Parts: sequence; C-alpha cells; structure tokens
Amino acid sequence: MSTENGCVFCGIARGEIPAKKLYEDDDIIAIDDVAPQAPVHMLIMPKAHVSGLNQLDELPDETLAKMLRAAGRLARERGVRERGYRLVCNCGQDACQSVPHLHIHLLGGRAMGAELA
Ligand code: AMP
Repeated sequence: MSTENGCVFCGIARGEIPAKKLYEDDDIIAIDDVAPQAPVHMLIMPKAHVSGLNQLDELPDETLAKMLRAAGRLARERGVRERGYRLVCNCGQDACQSVPHLHIHLLGGRAMGAELA
C-alpha cells in the first residue's frame, strides 16, 4: 500500500499519529474529526494515499464502496442513521480541502441547513 511521508492521514493510518479510531480494516479507516463541526463528525478514508476525488483512478472501486458502506454502518452505530446525516467530500482549493488525502466527512447529530454551501 502506498503511503506518503508528511501526510497526517497516512500517519494516522500507519498508527504513528494518535487518533480516535472508530473502524479499521485492511483498506480503510474511520476516525473522529479532531475539530468537530457537529455532534457527530467522523472522517472515513482509504489507508492508501490518494490525494482526493480527482485521483480516484488510483483507488480500487472496492475500497471506495467500502468507504460508503462504512459510512452507513457508522451512522447507525453513532445513532444518527434514522434522523439523517450528511456526507461531504471536499475537493481542491475552492472547496477548502485542507488535507490532501481523500476523506469523507460524516456529519450528524443536529439539523443541518438546507443550503449546501
Ligand atoms: P478538509 O478540509 O475537507 O480537508 O477536512 C480535513 C479535516 O481533517 C478537518 O475537518 C480537520 O479538522 C481534520 N483533521 C485534521 N487533522 C486531523 C487529525 N490529526 N485527526 C483528526 N482529524 C483531523
């Protein structure tokens, strides 16, 4: 699996940087966001370094599917599945992507605004 030196999420995936791990398997990891913007705010990511949505060709389809399935499971485990939750994947500068390692935010636990942006 390719990981990148200096990438914070690669460091978490390798177990070198501490994080609250909520789920882990051979391909993906889910952690609590260190600066939560909702009562439930987790990040779901591949362990392999993929910079973002524009590099999805580097990621096996199976890993992407795993990330989305994990979101549904984690939403149930954290009690937000029925009331609802939002998945956000920022890509690039205009979307304020701050960590260039693909990740999906799972946000829930309160009513969101109707506007996405
Ligand atoms: P984005 O702006 O979409 O790239 O989101 C990056 C997210 O990663 C932000 O919500 C940060 O709070 C979160 N984050 C950055 N460093 C860490 C870390 N070490 N552990 C957990 N979450 C982090």
